[in-house]
Amino acid sequence: MNSSAAAVAPYRTETSSFSTATAAAAAPLHIVTPLLTTRIGELDVALKLDNLQPARSFKLRGIGLLCQHHAARGVRRFVCSSAGNAGYAVAWAGRALGIPVTVVIPETTPAFMRARISALGAQLRCEGAVWDEANAVALRLATEPGVAFIPPFDDPLLWQGHATLVEELAQQCSEQPDAILVAVGGGGLLLGILEGLRRVGWHHTRVFGVEPEGSASLAATLATGRVVELSAPRSLATSLCVKRIAPALVTACRGANVVPLTVSDAEATAACVRLAEDHGQMIEPACGVALAPLYTKKEAFAGLRRVVAVVCGGQVVTLGDLARWQGEQERA
Ligand SMILES: *Cc1c(COP(=O)(O)O)cnc(C)c1O
Repeated sequence: MNSSAAAVAPYRTETSSFSTATAAAAAPLHIVTPLLTTRIGELDVALKLDNLQPARSFKLRGIGLLCQHHAARGVRRFVCSSAGNAGYAVAWAGRALGIPVTVVIPETTPAFMRARISALGAQLRCEGAVWDEANAVALRLATEPGVAFIPPFDDPLLWQGHATLVEELAQQCSEQPDAILVAVGGGGLLLGILEGLRRVGWHHTRVFGVEPEGSASLAATLATGRVVELSAPRSLATSLCVKRIAPALVTACRGANVVPLTVSDAEATAACVRLAEDHGQMIEPACGVALAPLYTKKEAFAGLRRVVAVVCGGQVVTLGDLARWQGEQERA
């Protein structure tokens, strides 16, 4: 292979071998994920295993679509400012599309996430003590010509991509579920779920938006009817620690059947342990937040029978974390 051919198609992905030039118009970057049915207490539960996305969380649905959109209009670089699942998904999409990626991270980013993002070929730039400072640098870089900024949750194209999760459910479920459980950080996933429910005509499905007690911006926003900014969101579920949700949620929740729930960090980590033990899936606390009500908030499901839980995924977890949380549960 000569060097110019290598320059045209430098990257291959595990799931596809399409060339970079046609990728934007071709298949989505995410995959259709399995739906695992089980029983938890009195409930028939279907676990939508988006932790099995190639980029290890649902984020690839929306970020893949947004990156394909920008690739089609000819951008030459993606920039984002997340050291978690969003940054990883952008790095993954960039590699699949053959477009260089810069991920601006704060100094607090753990070494294992730096290594994983670098392993996808993305350039890491460490700026600032906290995410807000890294984000300011990313926004500045994104003003350069040919660069697209990829936000983690606040973009309508992201929500369109996330909506495919519900379209898949409509193919996989024999009946409309009574409820869907979704973790809420900035609310991009929730906006996508609401869009998906509209698309498939599931008007009666209740949506539980679940947040950690220390970062419940959806609950605060729905209670007051306007976007509430938290001064210092704090939780082990770091992927959900966002000061304010996407403002579009205020209108989207109006008239929709959205019920906010909050769970403690201990409930979230216990759910991570349960999922590993009962179903062999390793997830981070942000995803444990979505599942925790199934184990500890049974009263929320009175009168409901069939519930879908979005196993949104996440890789910000180690085997050591799971073992520690298991020990904490045994001592509790
Ligand atoms: C990003 C993320 C969320 C929250 O998604 P939002 O769109 O910010 O609400 C939940 N779980 C995991 C694993 C995530 O990576």
